[in-house]
Amino acid sequence: MPLADFILSLKDNPYFGAGFGLVGVGAGVAVMRKSSQLGMVLFRRHFMMTLEVPSKDKSYHWLLQWITERATRTQHLSVETSFHQNEMGKITTNFAFVPSPGTHFFSYKGTWIRVERNREKQMMDFQMGVPWESVTLTAVGRNRSVYFNILEEAKQLALQKQEGRTIMFTALGSEWRQFGYPRKKRPISSVILDRGISEKILQDVKEFVDHPQWYMDRGIPYRRGYLLHGPPGCGKSSYITALAGALDYCICVMNLSERGLSDDRLNHLLSVAPQQSIILLEDVDAAFVSRDLSKENRTAYQGMGQLTFSGLLNALDGVASTEARVVFMTTNHLHRLDPALIRPGRVDVKQLIDYCTSHQLEHMFRKFYPDAGDHKAVLFSEKVLEHSPKVSAAQIQGYFMFHKDSADSAIENVRVLSTL
Ligand code: ADP
Repeated sequence: MPLADFILSLKDNPYFGAGFGLVGVGAGVAVMRKSSQLGMVLFRRHFMMTLEVPSKDKSYHWLLQWITERATRTQHLSVETSFHQNEMGKITTNFAFVPSPGTHFFSYKGTWIRVERNREKQMMDFQMGVPWESVTLTAVGRNRSVYFNILEEAKQLALQKQEGRTIMFTALGSEWRQFGYPRKKRPISSVILDRGISEKILQDVKEFVDHPQWYMDRGIPYRRGYLLHGPPGCGKSSYITALAGALDYCICVMNLSERGLSDDRLNHLLSVAPQQSIILLEDVDAAFVSRDLSKENRTAYQGMGQLTFSGLLNALDGVASTEARVVFMTTNHLHRLDPALIRPGRVDVKQLIDYCTSHQLEHMFRKFYPDAGDHKAVLFSEKVLEHSPKVSAAQIQGYFMFHKDSADSAIENVRVLSTL
């Protein structure tokens, strides 16, 4: 049979005809699907805008919070719980709700915006130990300023919540992460140091941050180092926190004895610390004993991870930017520190924060018992120093709490302080 006749005969075959029709319908559907996909791609490309914010980006958390406030109809939320312990030891818990992974919608100035929060199952952010996430905003239109405005509003909202508060950062991996909720600023007057010390340091830091040009003109690295040393519980950390509040700075706390802290990581962390922050290296003696001592006691070096002493010095020397860099170190044992660490340029101001003097004792007494009168304050201070000349402000604070209703009983029982 010639080929043409064979094809014609197939056409008359009912089974084959039906199959042919099905293939035709299938092909038609496939073409339609393809063209609608293509149409969607073209529409997305030309008439829609998307903005992807990965969880690594600074504005990620601001944006999630802001979306929660805007997309009030969203029923699918995730919770982020944080604890905060105040100075008196009271613990408060905060719950922050953010949109859960999935799709949400909200309208912003007349534009509907689709929010897609994606959580990668396979990808982890190893530094943070959390799944990798991103938020993608999609809107119809070509006006990108919508996104700029949203990010700006999210930032403002976050800053508003931080107003009057001090933010603490800790190092996590190679970046600084906010630690707990912003704390209410501690008034500098609430930390009672010996006469003139508080004012002297505050004035020095202010003088430093207010005169960048002086450093530029002389080619001197724009940084200043402070060392507060003295017995525990006398107010070193409290003062630095209060100082940060007074300057409107945040605090980046770095623990040098942290495992896995290498020279490179420290160097990187110090160079990427947020602007307007105090870098606080607490208990520097715990990580580094004097090099001479360490020769005798090699075990002191073993807990140090990969951070070397010269690595710390290099990192400190490298901390210079156009932004003022304020580095505070604290130690309970000044004599254990290597002289190289505290030489001028690395530590410009050394200040002893010691046990209470009569000035501090009187001041603390008057603050705690405002109606008791000056003569009782003097009497209290004399009796304390007579029985226990080495008493910390933290001990006095605790002692007052035992006698909170009676200034007289606080005066009468000062002997107890020597047993604390
Ligand atoms: P340090 O850092 O010297 O070990 P902290 O600042 O951690 O001491 O003080 C511990 C506690 O004692 C804090 O709760 C703080 O409120 C209180 N405290 C210590 N020193 C003072 C001070 N000079 N004035 C007011 N409170 C103080």
